[in-house]
Amino acid sequence: MSQEIQSRLLSGNFLALPQAELHVHLEGSLQPATVCALAAKYGVPTSAQEVLQRYAYRDFLEFIETFKWVSSLLRAPEDFALALRDLGEQLLAQNVVYAEITLSVGVMLLRHQSAEKNFDAVIAAAESLRSCGLKLNFIFDAVRQFGSDAAMKVVDAAERCRSKSIVAFGIGGDELSIPAKEFRAVYEKAGAIGLHRLMHAGEVGGPEEIREAIELLGVERIGHGIAAVRDPSLMDLLAQRRIPLEICPQSNIRTGALAKQLGLPAAQIEQHPLPKLFRHGIPVVLSTDDPAMFHTDLRSEYENAHRMGLQEEELKRIAKMSFEYALINQNDEIAIQRAGRATSALG
Ligand SMILES: [Zn+2]
Repeated sequence: MSQEIQSRLLSGNFLALPQAELHVHLEGSLQPATVCALAAKYGVPTSAQEVLQRYAYRDFLEFIETFKWVSSLLRAPEDFALALRDLGEQLLAQNVVYAEITLSVGVMLLRHQSAEKNFDAVIAAAESLRSCGLKLNFIFDAVRQFGSDAAMKVVDAAERCRSKSIVAFGIGGDELSIPAKEFRAVYEKAGAIGLHRLMHAGEVGGPEEIREAIELLGVERIGHGIAAVRDPSLMDLLAQRRIPLEICPQSNIRTGALAKQLGLPAAQIEQHPLPKLFRHGIPVVLSTDDPAMFHTDLRSEYENAHRMGLQEEELKRIAKMSFEYALINQNDEIAIQRAGRATSALG
């Protein structure tokens, strides 16, 4: 076993399994050294120490501020390609063979960038990662607090890019800012052009945010969704309809989202509702969200889940679900072969 796949908590057998990562933001994966390189390119004074200080937050809104600052350094298509190569290397080191990368296209458009040019650069970088054994697909993400018109422009950009690698449309940002029903037409259009429908919900908002995402917008996979644990009937609905939650434990600690859901000033990883949600029969996938910004990686998240009391057999079932609920293009033979191999390896 190579040194980088050792773990104190998980067996070598588990660590050797291929993995899929379904909830990871490109902008949130920039390591401090890459942020410093971009800052130097644009004459923005900073240091690795300052980046690390910015990568610590007291609450969700402080995290959003850092996300905006890092995004402001992604100014040219080649910057996005650099970011993707940075993330790709991190994923390959984690045995990830398939990932769905969320691109904050809402922020690109706010900055008057060309989503098509940025995406072309990203796709070129993704091709070189594919030859290393990593297949990537992409999610075009709008920012909820920017409103429905801006969100529709993200769907329009996905349509203009005309790529089979864009598999879904999603909305992130501040879920308490604008009601879900305002985005009905946006999700209808996304579905009409063949995109899967995703949304961050029940991260800092209540269970009603999750219910509305499903019932008003037809959302197929929920980002976070930890608030579901507060509503037994919603837990039943998620289990019956097989709607997965993309669980990102370290993110929930670092943004204060878990403490908020629990009504506590602070929360520990052992208090996370993942075991309860999973054992209720709700599909879950384990993800990192913004790995650099939250000082985490996929292996650490499986260790976190183990600390919550989930046994390795349960973790294997969760790892398998990341392939089952992946939005893998049916025409993509390599992706399917890899997923199939991984799934059979997981038993
Ligand atoms: Zn996210």
